Order: sequence, then C-alpha cells, then structure tokens
Amino acid sequence: MSARILNGIAIRDQIYAELRREITALGAAGIRPGLAAVLVGENPASQIYVRSKIAACDQLGLRSWLYTPSAAVTTEEMLTLIADLNARDDVDGILVQLPLPPQVDAKTVLEAVDPAKDVDGLHPLNAGRLVSGSAELVACTPAGCMEILRRSGIAVEGANAVVVGRSGLVGKPMALLLMHANATVTICHSKTRDLAGVVRQADIVVAAIGRAATIEPGWVSPGTTVIDVGTNRITDAAQVERIFANYPERLAQFREKGFTLAGDVHPGVAEVAGAITPVPGGVGPLTIAMLMSNTVKAARLRRAPAAFTDTASHTTPNITSAITPGAAAAKP
Ligand code: NAP
Repeated sequence: MSARILNGIAIRDQIYAELRREITALGAAGIRPGLAAVLVGENPASQIYVRSKIAACDQLGLRSWLYTPSAAVTTEEMLTLIADLNARDDVDGILVQLPLPPQVDAKTVLEAVDPAKDVDGLHPLNAGRLVSGSAELVACTPAGCMEILRRSGIAVEGANAVVVGRSGLVGKPMALLLMHANATVTICHSKTRDLAGVVRQADIVVAAIGRAATIEPGWVSPGTTVIDVGTNRITDAAQVERIFANYPERLAQFREKGFTLAGDVHPGVAEVAGAITPVPGGVGPLTIAMLMSNTVKAARLRRAPAAFTDTASHTTPNITSAITPGAAAAKP
C-alpha cells in the first residue's frame, strides 16, 4: 500500500483536545453547551448515528437531549417541537436526524430551526453565508474533510480539486469550501461525461456519491489526495468479493459479520494515491467532531459573544478561513 493514510480518528482526537479547552473556558463563564437531537421513528442506521452523537457529547461534557417522536409524527408536531427547542436558552444546537418519514415536510422543518442553532449547517441562511464566504456554522461532513486536509498539511491553494457528488449535505458545501480555500474546483455528478477523465486531472478528489467503489484505481493519477466520504454497508457476497478480492482481512470480517463497509472509492486506489482517507476511520469521525465543534461555537456566539471576543480564548475552527494559503501543490 503506497498512499499515506489520513487517520480520521487521530485528527478527531486532536480536535476534541482543543474543544475541551474551550468547553472549560465556557464552563468558567457559567455556560455548558447543549445539543438537542431529534430522532424520528426507528430507522436502525439513524439510531446508530444519533447514539454516537450523544456519546460524543457525553465524552466532551456537553449537555444533550434526545427527542424521539414516533414515525407517525406530523409536520405540525415537528414544528411545535422545533419552536420549543428554538426558545430554550440551554439548547445551543438542534440536530434533526435525516431522513424524516415521507409525511413530514423535511424542508419546512429544517428551515424552522433557528439559524443560530443550526449545527448541521443546513439552514438556507447558513448555506447562503457559506456561498458568501462568511459562514460560522458549516455542514459537518465537508467541514470535517477540510480539517483532514488542513491538519494533514495537504496544500489546497492552486490545486485542482474534483468533487464527485452535488448534494446539499456534502458535495455543494464541499465545493464551496475548497473554492474559498483557493482550489480550482470541478463538481461532478451522475450526468458528468467521462468522469474518469475528469478525476484523472485532480490533485484532490472528494468522493461523495453513495455507490460503493465507484472511483477506480485507473481513474486516479499517482500522488493524488483522495477523500472518501462514502459509507456503504454491503451485504451482497459477490459485491464484497469483487471489491475486496485482494483484502483477505475484509473478506474474513464479512464472513464473520455478514456485512462490511465500503467507501465510494475502490480500495485499490490506495496503491496509486499519494494520500487517502480509510473507510471506516476517515471522514466519519470528523463529521461527529465538527458537530461537536459547531455546538460549542453556537454556544459561544449566541451566549458568550462579549466574554470570548479574543481569538486566543476559543479554538473552534473558522472553516471558511481555516486553510493556510501559500503552498501550491496538493500532491504530498
Ligand atoms: P446523495 O444525496 O445521494 O448524493 C449523491 C451524489 O452523487 C449526487 O449528486 C449524484 O448525482 C452523484 N452520483 C450518483 N451516482 C453517480 C455516478 N455514477 N457518477 C457520478 N456521480 C454520481 O448522497 P450524499 O448525502 O451526498 O452522500 C454521499 C455519500 O456520503 C453516501 O455514501 C453517504 O452515506 C456518505 N456520507 C458519509 C458521511 C460520513 O460522515 N462519513 C456523512 C454524509 C454522507 P446527481 O445529483 O446527478 O443525482
């Protein structure tokens, strides 16, 4: 394996250490940041995600509340809950776990969240601020990808960055963050012609597609930095054999558990790339770390603006200005 592995767990731990200092400083001012999570119904994947977010709050000493409306909840009932959480001073962040059931108007619910408590960065006001380069609360997964690049010393300025995927949750904010960090950005999607040819031009590739092993080794130029956002749970034995044919430990894991996780990038890309995030253990831990960071930041901005005006007293990264300019090449 030739690529440098960009270890998301180690980077998350760095961020947690920094956040602990800020949480202590806020505590001294009588402020304990708090996150309210809303989990509708009994989707097993959503239950796992929310549980790990609540566990991260516990680990850092943040307050957390879990609201679990039934799968039959109406849009109006969700709006009432959101209004209550918006009105509470002790709630700094509101997380509505997606997907919501079909009878709930997800757009209306997400837009009802107070933008100052929108720790997922999904409210149109925060999305608009990101476009203008003045965002404070940025979508967690793309913000986490930027932290991986920054803390791994991968130069973004001047790099050709290719983002595969254009969702509002990942692809679009990712492209904006890379552009604000002075990369030359290309956004690809399901209608892109010659995706392999476009990816081959990249110094940095971010894959946020939702299809296992889409980016193949032959698509990536030697030395490219590859950020794999994809988290695909695979249960089909033939597909696992095809993707992980050369990875006996993953085949053994599949035989034992009946499933395995695959990224949107084929594991063979690690033989060609200069640096790559693993799946699991790459982008995933950063998504939760940035949710914690946004919650602490939301508490500071809303409840302690005067007490924390000097930059030395807080550490939550300002993502849109976080990339150190200067270096031009992205290939490590
Ligand atoms: P999404 O909303 O389904 O968007 C997928 C994007 O990929 C779309 O823009 C789609 O294009 C594009 N696409 C699909 N097939 C393609 C193909 N064959 N070639 C090129 N582009 C293609 O997914 P998402 O919410 O952005 O998530 C993407 C992946 O990241 C998923 O695997 C998800 O599980 C994972 N994820 C991981 C984390 C984490 O913490 N690790 C967090 C969030 C998401 P169109 O727009 O043309 O349809």
